[in-house]
Amino acid sequence: MATMKAVVKTKPELGAELQDKPIPEPLPDWVVVKVRATSICGTDVHIYKWDPWSAERIGVKALPQILGHEVAGEVVEAGAHCKRIKVGDYISAETHIYDPGDLTSMLGSFHVGRHMKILGVDFDGCFAEYFALPESICWPNDPAIPPEVAAIQEPLGNATYAVLGEDADVAGKTMVITGDGPISLFAVGVARVCGVAKIIHFGKYELNMEIARKMGADLQMNTNDSTGAERLEFVLDHTGGNGVDIALEMVGSQNSVDDCFAMVRKAGRVTAFGIAAESPLPVDYNNGIVFKGCQVHGINGRKIFDTWYRNRNLLAAGRLDPTPVITNVFKLEDFKAGFDKMIERPRKSAKVVLLPDEQEYQAASKRIGG
Ligand code: ZN
Repeated sequence: MATMKAVVKTKPELGAELQDKPIPEPLPDWVVVKVRATSICGTDVHIYKWDPWSAERIGVKALPQILGHEVAGEVVEAGAHCKRIKVGDYISAETHIYDPGDLTSMLGSFHVGRHMKILGVDFDGCFAEYFALPESICWPNDPAIPPEVAAIQEPLGNATYAVLGEDADVAGKTMVITGDGPISLFAVGVARVCGVAKIIHFGKYELNMEIARKMGADLQMNTNDSTGAERLEFVLDHTGGNGVDIALEMVGSQNSVDDCFAMVRKAGRVTAFGIAAESPLPVDYNNGIVFKGCQVHGINGRKIFDTWYRNRNLLAAGRLDPTPVITNVFKLEDFKAGFDKMIERPRKSAKVVLLPDEQEYQAASKRIGG
């Protein structure tokens, strides 16, 4: 039996192991992909740490399980029922495996559904030399997009969906974006290329705030050395006293949620993306939402495949350059160094990419400059 190297969660405790595993075989409507690049998501960090969320969501019974869901690779085998995707295709993966029979899918919201499953959470993921996935969630990449960039399109899609919302009405508007994580930083870049006129970013780690500036943040404030009242005053000063048209909440902390509902103007939009450590989380319901007439938009995933389509075009055309957010590339076998980077606080990284192949790793290192 042919085997491959894979990063496997074996025990309900911190860490994971590099193991030899059989190369998967495709189900009739699945494909097998040779991984060219894969990136570490916050979700992988939760599972790696085996925090209460992963203990409940995945559970010890599912172990051993291969981690990972953000990927770019080449299809090496296609099941007998596959029609759209063929051997040789260069693809990335939508993580949300939708059920076309769910009501939300039938109404066009494929990314949220009662029977939705998640790659790398509900079954084996892509931190391996090969992995298998349903044809239905394969997205063909433009060959102009290098693998380390194609791999990060999944979180980039969160950013694009968060920035554009349901109506994509952002050109010429003002926006607050909170947080230092890769998706906050991607969102700054997307907002910039989509014509947001003024991007106000709140972060707390110097490296990440610098990346946000590279991605196009116009104004910034460090949340470590400012109060909520000072941040609100700053935003009002820069928006003619009105507040911003759109506030993207991308932290999930009480301060960030309070900031966003205070800073959004009347009849504006607050986009809720950050996941709170504890929920319910208090919100100024009367003044922040009702009397403001504001819209609250929750983001879970990406618009399938609207955000993929837009991002592929933006990336292939060179309009959007997300590479400042990719701070580190490692060989897949050095995944522990990658996770250490992601866990380290104060934060000294944004997106971390892993590559199984030595040559791909060398080429990506050269392009990223790390
Ligand atoms: Zn992800």
